[in-house]
Amino acid sequence: MQDVGQVVLRDIVLVGGGHSHVGVIKRFGMRPLPGVRLTVICTDTDTPYSGMLPGYVAGHYTYDEVHIDLRRLAEFAGARFYRDEVIGLDRDQRQVLCRDRPPVPYDRLSINIGSMPAVGLVEGASEYAVPVKPIRRFNERWLALLERVCRHAGRTTIAVVGAGAGGVELTLAMQYRLRGELQRRGRDPDELAFHLFAAERDILATHNARVRRSFERVLTERGVVVHRAAEVSRVYAGRLCTRDGETLAADEIVWVTQAGAATWLRQTGLALDAAGFIEVRATLQTVSDPLIFAAGDCAAMLGRPLEKAGVFAVRQGPVLAENLRRSLLERPLRVWRPQRRWLALISTGGRYAVASRAEMHAEGAWVWRWKDWLDRRFMARFGDLLPMADQARRQRAPVPLDENEARQATSALAMRCGGCGAKLGAKLGGTLLSRVLAALHPIERADVLIGLRAPDDAAIVRVPPGKALVHTVDFFRSFIDDPWLFGRIAANHALGDIFAMGAEAQTATAIVTAPPGLERKIEDTLLQMLSGAIAVLDDVGCALVGGHSGEGSDLALGFAINGLIDENMAGVLRKGGMRPGDVLILTKAIGVGTLLAAHARLRARGRWIDQALAVMAQSNAPGARCLREHKATACTDVTGFGLLGHLLEMVGPSRVGVEIALDDLPVLDGAVETSEAGIVSSLHAANLRSRRYLRNPEQGNGHPHYPLLFDPQTAGGLLASIPLESADACLRALRALGYDKAACIGRVLPADQHAEPICLQAQARARPSG
Ligand SMILES: Cc1cc2nc3c(=O)[nH]c(=O)nc-3n(C[C@H](O)[C@H](O)[C@H](O)COP(=O)(O)OP(=O)(O)OC[C@H]3O[C@@H](n4cnc5c(N)ncnc54)[C@H](O)[C@@H]3O)c2cc1C
Repeated sequence: MQDVGQVVLRDIVLVGGGHSHVGVIKRFGMRPLPGVRLTVICTDTDTPYSGMLPGYVAGHYTYDEVHIDLRRLAEFAGARFYRDEVIGLDRDQRQVLCRDRPPVPYDRLSINIGSMPAVGLVEGASEYAVPVKPIRRFNERWLALLERVCRHAGRTTIAVVGAGAGGVELTLAMQYRLRGELQRRGRDPDELAFHLFAAERDILATHNARVRRSFERVLTERGVVVHRAAEVSRVYAGRLCTRDGETLAADEIVWVTQAGAATWLRQTGLALDAAGFIEVRATLQTVSDPLIFAAGDCAAMLGRPLEKAGVFAVRQGPVLAENLRRSLLERPLRVWRPQRRWLALISTGGRYAVASRAEMHAEGAWVWRWKDWLDRRFMARFGDLLPMADQARRQRAPVPLDENEARQATSALAMRCGGCGAKLGAKLGGTLLSRVLAALHPIERADVLIGLRAPDDAAIVRVPPGKALVHTVDFFRSFIDDPWLFGRIAANHALGDIFAMGAEAQTATAIVTAPPGLERKIEDTLLQMLSGAIAVLDDVGCALVGGHSGEGSDLALGFAINGLIDENMAGVLRKGGMRPGDVLILTKAIGVGTLLAAHARLRARGRWIDQALAVMAQSNAPGARCLREHKATACTDVTGFGLLGHLLEMVGPSRVGVEIALDDLPVLDGAVETSEAGIVSSLHAANLRSRRYLRNPEQGNGHPHYPLLFDPQTAGGLLASIPLESADACLRALRALGYDKAACIGRVLPADQHAEPICLQAQARARPSG
């Protein structure tokens, strides 16, 4: 039996992918709440687990072992993952404000954005010191330092400011790693000097005396110079000064002082403590707004100040998940009681650690093994993910609805039963879409006589004198639960044909289908999707002049696009112009199909998908211009038929043969791994039919790039033939335009009537050096 829980009724938005939110996402994945959609907005796809960070720096763990893949976790939970930075809230409108995309509405909001070392409190620190957070940036600096120290002989001085557990542990981890690297290269590890600055007399001020003594001993043994009661008051390029006037010249200054809060929180109107952290009750609900929760370092519990430690953030996760759920169900919230004493396992660089809990102290290699076991067990909860059955569909919807919402949800379901793809009623098709378009203000062009400014039954557009019209249409279902990004990609995809022809985009009309649901949710989805699309259309001077929306089982978007070209056909790039002796250039990497299929099966790394999405969102306009400037003889855009299918469309009308250098195909990160795992797109099987046009398919056997010839692309790159003499310059120009994987992938041969037209080469040859 169907119930209204199948329709999206409520949105929980999670800001930040901290230690509490990963627990919330996992729990919602295991036990979804019918009708409730989760959206995670985070600056990073890989979120670090702080407990293992020093072990990563020391070289005991790989990058992936210490990071949780948020995109994959979100996919597991059926949650939307938006990679973006949150910069504020509009609490009146119940919206989250993001750096790149339109505001994201919420019914319940939770904030778990952590903290940053308070660099702003000391002059020069934000310019010249490296804060340990955000970890992504610290990691970039750390890898650069590692490389610098390994490559260049000579003394390196590293100063760490902050002698709490984080600062001490990080100092020892960096020293352990760098000394080891120098020893391995036969260099003197004493080239390295480490200085640790403590504002108080004691290091590890919040731990017991025996723990402090252990670390004092270790730091002395390792030759780390500890500066006590040495509060750093000024940082310059390559130098720091303490309040007492001591100065130290240092090649790297790492900042691990007490936690500071994100500045944007100050404009939210939420009650904050003196340090700027969000005040929450024991239920983790903010003091000022019952719809907003906060957890982890960025939250300050009323009347119960807590140390900023990941252990609390982790433990808040289950209560936060439960309270978000209860809050939507209008049930009493649970109280979270932090433990009075908590266990810290602090490593000393090597595989040795010290345990600290109130007055308890223990140390040894066994403590490190224990810590390692606990940390790996925690991480396994987010690594071993299998697709879940859609439990939400089998449950009844318990979210309380008002009368109007209940009516809309029921009618949405009735429409679904009545057949998907039904035409939208005037209300949705007219009022809603026009409301969205009115909010978006696409660019206007002088050659649009009737467009969105004064909409009519149809748009009227003038074809300027001397120009001919180029028409194309494309339409497809959303393959990613991010309407804004999908809108961008769909617009790019549709524009691809115009640019491949060498034309200029003039106007577009949109066709949209959206699944039925509450009007305000549909309106938001359309707003997100069309604002992404319009930004892309605006960028290339293409005016949106109209559109039509309908109801469908899936979110889908397409465009009919008009382009302009000289009426004498000057500059037209056709598929059929390839000449023997030309080389083949592909502007973007392939592998989108297998990667998206793997993502749906939780078999792709989130950062592979990030890269694939970024490539799909990259416009082909500058690439097409560049190919024309370098005298391309033929061109097409690579989409659903895959590279081989589209190449065949060029080879036939050109009456030539081609040779493809398999080694030289540009491939997206992860695509070889996923295709070798046997994961292919549903279109792959149909595309495989084009293999009969291969002269020597056996050359492809076992080659990792061979299956990718058949991989369908979305908003793929341009494939062009270029005279050999322009190819080097063309590749250099494409790369300068941001097509960093643009490559020469083969050459055009004279036709051979007696053989199949496409020949494979596993070794590259006759390619330009660029
Ligand atoms: C070297 C070191 C070692 C440590 N070791 C330990 C330890 O062993 N045990 C322990 O308990 N604690 C440890 N800590 C402390 C621990 O790092 C923090 O207490 C913990 O990370 C806080 O977790 P959180 O969930 O609040 O936020 P975080 O883990 O910091 O996560 C915040 C997330 O929010 C995202 N984010 C931030 N701002 C935005 C924004 N504006 N928009 C969108 N997303 C945003 C970030 O990208 C990140 O994914 C250590 C700290 C350091 C520096």
